[in-house]
Amino acid sequence: MKLVLFGPPGAGKGTQAEILSAHFQIPTISTGAVLREAVKNGAPAGLLAKSHIDAGELVPDEVVTAIIKERLAEDDCKNGFILDGFPRTVSQAQALESFGAAVDAVLYIDVSDADIIERLKNRRVCDKCGSSFSQVKDHAEKGAKCPKCGGSLTVREDDAPEVVAKRLQTYHGQTEPVRDYYAAKGILKTVKGQTEIKATTRLTFSALGLE
Ligand code: AMP
Repeated sequence: MKLVLFGPPGAGKGTQAEILSAHFQIPTISTGAVLREAVKNGAPAGLLAKSHIDAGELVPDEVVTAIIKERLAEDDCKNGFILDGFPRTVSQAQALESFGAAVDAVLYIDVSDADIIERLKNRRVCDKCGSSFSQVKDHAEKGAKCPKCGGSLTVREDDAPEVVAKRLQTYHGQTEPVRDYYAAKGILKTVKGQTEIKATTRLTFSALGLE
């Protein structure tokens, strides 16, 4: 299974990707996570990416596409993979096909801008394992410990309200055309993102014909 998880920032792509990865026993590749790690380590891709991430803009296609190409060539992707946060432009989608990684399905998690703004205001992420929690639903306060690995919970810098507004603008302007691109290919499956993770997972499995 070669699957793309598509949707606005904060739609729950990473959470559903983790569940699907465990189900299919295939890796999830999150370009956002790879870029954040590169920023943390001072790697060349990170130096290039940082100002774009901080501004809520897309990192240049060639940087992200090179990361994906290299990662998909690794052994663990032989039986399939899940992409979270890639492709974000039509040019990235075309690049994916050009290196022989055409996807089987694209799962679009549809969440309104108003709900995204609310969710990201409350999002806390573990600085060690990257898991996401909600301050409201999971009572995950900043500085509290991650229930999965014991790391500290933090607020992502690009979850600041002014950056979220820009990220949504970027999504509608540059990323939404990717949805239409895959819809035209007949492989787009749409689910309405729910408040409860389990409810979205049920819709996801059913959209993918898994139950
Ligand atoms: P995410 O964790 O998916 O929300 O990504 C965080 C940030 O990383 C985005 O706002 C972009 O600046 C950058 N980024 C992640 N994936 C991509 C991509 N496929 N293309 C360009 N920029 C990306």
